Amino acid sequence: MPAYNLHTSISYLKGVGPNRADLLKSELGIRTFADLLHFFPNRYIDRTHFFKINELQHNTAEIQIIGTLTHLKTVKQKRGSRLVATFTDGTGTMELVWFRGIKWIKESLKLNVPYVLFGRTTFYKGLFTMAHPEMELLSNYKKSLQKGMQPIYPSTEKLTNKGISNRVISKLMQHLFAEIGTSFSETLPASILRKYAFITKKEALLNIHFPQNQALLTKAQARLKFEELFFIQLQLIRKKLIRKAKIKGFCFEKVGDFFNDFYKNNLPFELTNAQKKVLKEIRKDLRSNAQMNRLLQGDVGSGKTIVALLSMLIALDNGFQAALMAPTEILATQHFNSITALLKGIPVKVKLLTGSTGAKDRKAIHQELESGELHILIGTHALIEDKVKFHNLGLAIIDEQHRFGVEQRSKMWLKNTLPPHILVMTATPIPRTLAMSVYGDLDISVIDELPPGRKEVITAHRFDKNRLSVFKFLKEEIAKGRQVYVVYPLINESEKMDYKDLMDGYDSISREFPKPEYQISIVHGKMKPEDKEFEMQRFIKGETQIMIATTVIEVGVNIPNASVMVIESAERFGLSQLHQLRGRVGRGAEQSYCILMSSFKLSSDAKTRLSTMVTTSDGFKIAEVDLKLRGPGNLMGTQQSGVLNLRIADIIKDAHVLKSARGEAISLLRTDPTLQLPENRNVKIAYLETSKNASIWAHIS
Ligand code: ADP
Ligand code: MG
Repeated sequence: MPAYNLHTSISYLKGVGPNRADLLKSELGIRTFADLLHFFPNRYIDRTHFFKINELQHNTAEIQIIGTLTHLKTVKQKRGSRLVATFTDGTGTMELVWFRGIKWIKESLKLNVPYVLFGRTTFYKGLFTMAHPEMELLSNYKKSLQKGMQPIYPSTEKLTNKGISNRVISKLMQHLFAEIGTSFSETLPASILRKYAFITKKEALLNIHFPQNQALLTKAQARLKFEELFFIQLQLIRKKLIRKAKIKGFCFEKVGDFFNDFYKNNLPFELTNAQKKVLKEIRKDLRSNAQMNRLLQGDVGSGKTIVALLSMLIALDNGFQAALMAPTEILATQHFNSITALLKGIPVKVKLLTGSTGAKDRKAIHQELESGELHILIGTHALIEDKVKFHNLGLAIIDEQHRFGVEQRSKMWLKNTLPPHILVMTATPIPRTLAMSVYGDLDISVIDELPPGRKEVITAHRFDKNRLSVFKFLKEEIAKGRQVYVVYPLINESEKMDYKDLMDGYDSISREFPKPEYQISIVHGKMKPEDKEFEMQRFIKGETQIMIATTVIEVGVNIPNASVMVIESAERFGLSQLHQLRGRVGRGAEQSYCILMSSFKLSSDAKTRLSTMVTTSDGFKIAEVDLKLRGPGNLMGTQQSGVLNLRIADIIKDAHVLKSARGEAISLLRTDPTLQLPENRNVKIAYLETSKNASIWAHIS
């Protein structure tokens, strides 16, 4: 019986004292031997090659050199000081600098003794410099096992400052393997190992930390990536199965008069095939006896509203009420207006509830809602207040779901004895790979087709100095009877600067487009809701030709005659936001335009964002670029999701692995939903182990 096992606290490992144990825990989440074992390098470098200083190139990446320190001095600078050393290898000299941990480093370095130096060089004022190099005495280096491919582990600034370098982590890894040996049990079923020709768990763990050669390292990575994604998918899919089996839902058996009359008499257009397909998926859920929990993705303008309405009518046909919640008052009002108009002549009672609904109306709504007289309630988050009680809510639809917090969404679940069916809608396309990981336990429907006859919005990028020609173009479009949005960034509504930009813009546009020929609306976050609504209405009615706004108009607004969108300081917007904004135009029969204004100086990311907008209008393509630029952690709705705290796999680069891992997880659970079969014993043990510390779906409502 070995003294230690994988559950042993990391503080018992040789080389780890209480301080280091605390740091490993707080910085890297490493608490046990197992955590360290599964702490994987994020890259490897070839340490068989030594450079000479006179061979260094300006673009040299990470290199190692053998040489000695000849001088060491502390230099005072504005804030604090830096430590500077001269390093020579006989072919030349270079400079080493440290900005942190100076005292400790100075004491530990020895002059005129050969070191192996490792790090990244920069060329500055005629001299090669290396900041915070890793250094090891040549005599020690020769003794150490770490030759050839050296793993580089992820680190943090704090760890580096406290002297826990990559070398220290590598040492700990050696101690770890010395303590626990290498008899790691297999976690994948034999059939999968065979099918993908994976190496064993034992070989994989050994080679990921101490690669024998590149070929084995590649195999180790392939196996561990698959394994990581496989167990996440297994959890997500099992959760979905459990929800379907356990969470009973209202069964909407029939499609009745509300739906049929509407479909026959009121539907203003033929549904697109994508809309029909999605509606079928929803109908299947609604009559399945299990609660629906479905995400409806559809690019801006793809026609999600009509799908929402038709689904609500099915609820009504089965004697239930329905609710539609939108993130802003403007959007809720617009839904209310368009749905009321669509339902003309159909005896459905619809009301609107928002923050600015008066006390008297509110009281009436509460009563009619509880008596069941009211069929559909549309509104903002005012809907989920505890005071709002339904007689029999059967379906809750949440538009632009990423605008709502988790708790807000989950409150909808409590609005009836059984949870109502939930349909969340989003116009922010989530790349499939990400959707599989983040929303793997939700059912997903996609409207991947725009209604016919839409003209693609022509998008152009113009610099601020071309402003006059842009204004000229706006005048021509207005002369044709079109309306124009001019949007300013207001990233933080309280930022004075942003507000000033908006007002300056308003002044300059007012000068350029004088009354009475031109009328201008302005809407921004600092205005009272009723003033906003008033200005919106003027624009909707066509009384004003120009709408100056901050990003409050980003979501949902539908004004078909507005065919030109000018986005000021477009470089300050994120890609998905730009795409959402552009979606406000191109809704009518006329050719629409989107003009992205920016200053001349642009970061390379900003250039990519703007050129992506100019070259494509495909929301999914845009989402893919966004994902590449920002990484998955920054996409909407993914922050809280531990799903993305991946140890080794990469959602973008390993999309194909994710796909096969998901496929295998599905087929395994299909044949053995509770993991009872003897051949899945491995999987069950590992599954229980991983799901113990998995809060990975806590965010999903
Ligand atoms: P979104 O998905 O962005 O919420 P909307 O539901 O607001 O899109 O629809 C955008 C516009 O397209 C609306 O004016 C709507 O009436 C129209 N529309 C929706 N579906 C169709 C269709 N099948 N054929 C023609 N027009 C449609
Ligand atoms: Mg919409």
